[in-house]
Order: sequence, then C-alpha cells, then structure tokens
Amino acid sequence: MAKQLRILFVVSEAVPYAKTGGLADVAGTLPFALQELGAEIKVIMPYYGQIKQKNIAMTCAAENLTAAAGPLSLEFNVLTPAAGDAPFYFIERDEFYERSQLYGTPRGDYYDNLERFAFLSDSVLATCRALAFKPDVIHCHDWQAALVPVYLRHRWVGEALLADTKSLLTIHNLAYQGLFPKEKFPFTGLPPSLFSINGLEYYDKINLLKGGIVFADAVSTVSRGYSKEIQTPEYGYGLDGVLRTRAEAIFGIVNGVDYGVWNPATDPLIAANYDAADLRGKAANKQALMEAYGLDKKLVKQPLLGIISRLADQKGFDLIAAVLPELMARDIPLVILGTGDEKYHLWLEEVGPKYAGKLGVKIAFDNRLAHLIEAGADMFLMPSRYEPCGLNQMYSMKYGTVPVVRATGGLMDTVEPVDAAKGTGTGFVFKEYSAAAFIKALNAAIDAYKDKKLWRKIMLNCMAEDFSWQASAKAYLTLYKRLAAGDI
Ligand code: ADP
Repeated sequence: MAKQLRILFVVSEAVPYAKTGGLADVAGTLPFALQELGAEIKVIMPYYGQIKQKNIAMTCAAENLTAAAGPLSLEFNVLTPAAGDAPFYFIERDEFYERSQLYGTPRGDYYDNLERFAFLSDSVLATCRALAFKPDVIHCHDWQAALVPVYLRHRWVGEALLADTKSLLTIHNLAYQGLFPKEKFPFTGLPPSLFSINGLEYYDKINLLKGGIVFADAVSTVSRGYSKEIQTPEYGYGLDGVLRTRAEAIFGIVNGVDYGVWNPATDPLIAANYDAADLRGKAANKQALMEAYGLDKKLVKQPLLGIISRLADQKGFDLIAAVLPELMARDIPLVILGTGDEKYHLWLEEVGPKYAGKLGVKIAFDNRLAHLIEAGADMFLMPSRYEPCGLNQMYSMKYGTVPVVRATGGLMDTVEPVDAAKGTGTGFVFKEYSAAAFIKALNAAIDAYKDKKLWRKIMLNCMAEDFSWQASAKAYLTLYKRLAAGDI
C-alpha cells in the first residue's frame, strides 16, 4: 500500500471558526476532502477572540510550548476541538489573537501583524514536535503563513523532524503581501542577510509573501487563469518578476465548492428549497429577498441583481457605481451585501436611501443573508478588476443565479459565456474593464431574461455545473506527491 501522505496546513482563517473571505472556505473544506482521499491532515491556525466567543469545547493538545517572533520568545498552548475529528489545532496566545477582528479594523491593520504571524509561523516547529507529527508537505496559505517556507530553509535547518519536509505556498490574493517597515525585520527572527533583493526585501520594505515565493518548493494559485496573469506586470502587483523566476514551480488549482453548505436543495438558510427538477422555490426566495431589503413589490417581474462582496477596489465597485444610475432609471432592482473599505460604506450609505425601493443595501457580514441572495437573485454581479478564483460565481450557478462577470482569473476559468442562439453557456462575460463593456454584458443578460425559455436553459446549464472539492483535492494530492518525491 502506498504510504499515507502527511500534510500540515498553516493558515490564518478557516470556516466555521473565523472568516473574512474565500480563504476561510478553502481552509475549512479542503482538509476534509484530502482526508477522504486518504491523506493525514492537520491544520494550524490562531485561536482568535472570535473562536473563543463561539464557546466550542476544546481540549488542550499541548501546553507551555515556546515559539518566537524574533527576539520575543513566548509561550503558547495548542487547543483542538473536543468533539468530532476536526483536524484543527489552534495556537492560543491571547495577547496576539484575542482581538475583535482577525487582521485589523476598517481603519487599518493591527500594528503588530508581523509579530502575530511570525509567531504563528514559528509555532509550527514546536507544535509538530508536541504532536509527534512529521509532515511530508507544509501547505502554507497567503502572506500570514509565508514565513514558514523561509523558516524551513533558514531557521529550522538541522531539525530532524522537518528535514525532509517540503513546502507549498498558495497565493489566494497577490494584492495582500504582508508589507512591513524594514525596522521590524528582527521580528522575523531571520539573519539580516535575508533582507536583500534575493530574500524578503521589496522596495526597502519587508515583504513576507515575496519570501514565501522565493523559498517555497512550489507555489500555487487558486485558478489556472490567475496563475498565468500574476506573472504579467498588469496583475503582478510588483511581484511578477519574482514569480517569473519561479515559473516552472507555479501551479493553478481552482477552488471547489462545499455543496454540503451551498446547495438550494438542502440549504436550511433560505426561504424555500428547490433543485433543477423543480425550480418553483426560487420565486419564494426572490420574494423573501425583496422583503428582507424592503424593495418595491411591483418590481418582482424585473430581473433582481445581487452582489455579496468584500467592499474593496478589487471587486469593481467603480464599475457598479458607474452603471447604477442607468439600472435604477430602468427600474432594475439590485441588492448589495458587503463590508470593507470605509469609502464604500460611505458611498452605499449615500446611494441606498437615494434609490430606496429599488436598491437594497446592507453593510454587514451576514451569512444567512448571503445564502438568501444566492437563492433569491436572478443574476449575480462580479465585475472584478482581478479575481484569483472567486467563490460566489460558483455558488450562484448552483442556485440557478446567472453570473455576470468580468473575464479575469478564476471567473474566466469557471463561467462559460452564453451563446443565446445555441442556448449554451453559464453566464454573461465582458473583457475590457470599463462601464461600457459591463453595461453591454448586463444588457445581454437582461434581454436573455425576457426570453423565459432561454433563461430557464441558462439556469439549468448553471445548476448542472459541478465544482465540487473532489477534483481540486485530487489535483492538490498529485502536487503534494510530486513535492514529496522531490519531483519539483
Ligand atoms: P474573496 O475571497 O475575494 O472575498 P470570494 O468570492 O472568493 O471572494 O469569497 C467570498 C466569500 O465570502 C464567499 O463565501 C462569500 O459568500 C463570503 N462573503 C463575502 N462578503 C460577505 C458578507 N458581507 N456577508 C456574508 N458573506 C460574505
């Protein structure tokens, strides 16, 4: 029998414990899909205040371990859920993780994020020792865990337990790189020589993600499209040059969907269940959604547009702002759910009341409402400037809510443009990042909606798509095996 692969995830968020975005969905789901394929998985993440508040019974897997954030050598405990077999191990160090948010407030990041995540990264060694776990591959996610590949090469050298361990760094969003002033370099615990062009230095700052890209055995992103885009100046956020030097070791594996959670046939958070064989429940959800947002009932015959999003420049809110007056003038209703940058909070607080009855705005993180939007809207808008993978367009398709997206990254990989004449395709796609191109795609979608037979066909095309985790987990497993075999 083939040897069981041992994989350690190091990650800063995972459902159902703590979430700010798609990373949490991946980190909370992929480990179970990998377990089902026979791998042995453990996940290390911080024990945030948000997790503590959930009052999940925990047992202490190890106590009084020590890790460092440079000169700070501090103790921590490792907690694991008491019930079930969730392979999660939480690093408990309250001074770092017991805060109201994960990374910062809308005003800005926490001042000590370097210390907080250097500590998380360094906790890996003591935790592996305490759990007697010898990983074949450490799978690190985003800048928060990007020091781990650097530590494997430059800090934990000579540690027998990790001597054969390989590292994979997955970039879920290249725009977030973990940048810090150079004066903080001692907190990485790395030799000063690594603050250089071939190490973590980036325009005279510390760049944790860059360190991970340079020293990981392999790098991956969450779609094939994005893995190519990030190697170009347009999408490379200043790291395209570094990424091109690793081109041979860069892979793209698209995220999957947890259909146990996102499925209109079984979803307990929506107004009525439905499936491809019987779409009637969709109308009840549309009604419930319009009521939840206080929209004018007379608009029920119009296509209802939905957005669930972090309120960030990435997500194309300038394009949404540009097309909004036209949509409102034509009585096309739109509901928005999101939190994020303060400037977008202010904008939404201004336009919400202006278009009352047609535009629904909720500035919040509300999982229940997110499910109702997926079920109740007719179309889902994602005019992203860039999109590493994007989950909402895949969720939407399962709910027969047709995506209108920009052709970038994972959106391009997962949404097939509709051909109205043939009745094929799953969404409406535009390429150029402009309001004119966006409104053209919206108009095509609105026209198609008027043709009830065609629209039903597109909805069914969407609902027949299968983005389950199984395929993605298999692709990761293949990559881990190649890494463990020294193939990469
Ligand atoms: P990103 O990771 O860039 O934020 P994704 O589309 O990949 O975007 O994933 C976003 C995830 O976060 C989805 O599961 C989405 O439903 C959820 N989400 C985003 N904003 C909110 C919100 N305000 N309320 C509830 N869920 C949200």
